[in-house]
Amino acid sequence: KEFRNNVRPNWCPGCGDFAVQASMQRALGNLNLEPENVALISGIGCSGRISGYLNVYGFHGVHGRSLPIAQGVKLANRNLTVLASGGDGDGFGIGLGHFMHAVRRNMDITYVVMDNQIYGLTKGQHSPTSAFGFKAKTTPAGNIENAISPLQIALSAGITYLAQGFSSDVNQLTELIQGGIEHKGFSLINVFSPCVTYNKVNTYEWFKEHTVSLDQFPDYNPTDRASAIAKVMETDGLCTGLIFKDEKKPVFEDLVQNYPQEAYLNSNLEMDQSMFDELMREFA
Ligand code: SF4
Repeated sequence: KEFRNNVRPNWCPGCGDFAVQASMQRALGNLNLEPENVALISGIGCSGRISGYLNVYGFHGVHGRSLPIAQGVKLANRNLTVLASGGDGDGFGIGLGHFMHAVRRNMDITYVVMDNQIYGLTKGQHSPTSAFGFKAKTTPAGNIENAISPLQIALSAGITYLAQGFSSDVNQLTELIQGGIEHKGFSLINVFSPCVTYNKVNTYEWFKEHTVSLDQFPDYNPTDRASAIAKVMETDGLCTGLIFKDEKKPVFEDLVQNYPQEAYLNSNLEMDQSMFDELMREFA
């Protein structure tokens, strides 16, 4: 199936987000899904544009709110494959509260974060994942806040699929995203996706030098949460690969009593034009 559409991304040449887009397209293609059965909800930021670049249903939401919208989409039609996406500022700054509650709720959604440690769209402010001491337009003397660890937060909130990739390794990233989509439950794939224009510290070269592939640890057990937390701490959050997976925890959709197996849109929603007009008047 063709998941590429004819919209040309307006990311800067070399931006890591191109590789994320390519990996998503490949993962969806490998799974042989129908484009009309996939929805991609994004937040605000350079990465948020991705929902317009794939041949699937796209919804470019508001800042930090991709996950509430994605959960609403999934609730309305559980037969859709739902992906959410955005950047580190979007997901771990303004959207952090939504992120933690989405994790513990465990709906069957795949969340792909393009983490470049900076706000790119607004031209280079430090973000929640910027390291202590990082110099940006808002921190000319160096960041005086500690970076948050999305991996530690996800693990402690009860995530059931956690992976981390890097834009330089499209094969691994495709595999991780594919695994997240196949996983029944909430998955986070955090991606080191360099901002070549505004982040001159966390470059492709920097990540190549500092990241540690979990493939180097043949005894690593990704089904043990305590081991996952230990490995994330030991590598200072710079490990790549499948970090954790729990296939036993039930998904939210299966725990809701009398939750329809069919889409609400197919079964329950009867709305004629007058009801629709009245609804719109309420919002006016
Ligand atoms: Fe990518 Fe940075 Fe350019 Fe945004 S500003 S498109 S994140 S390189």
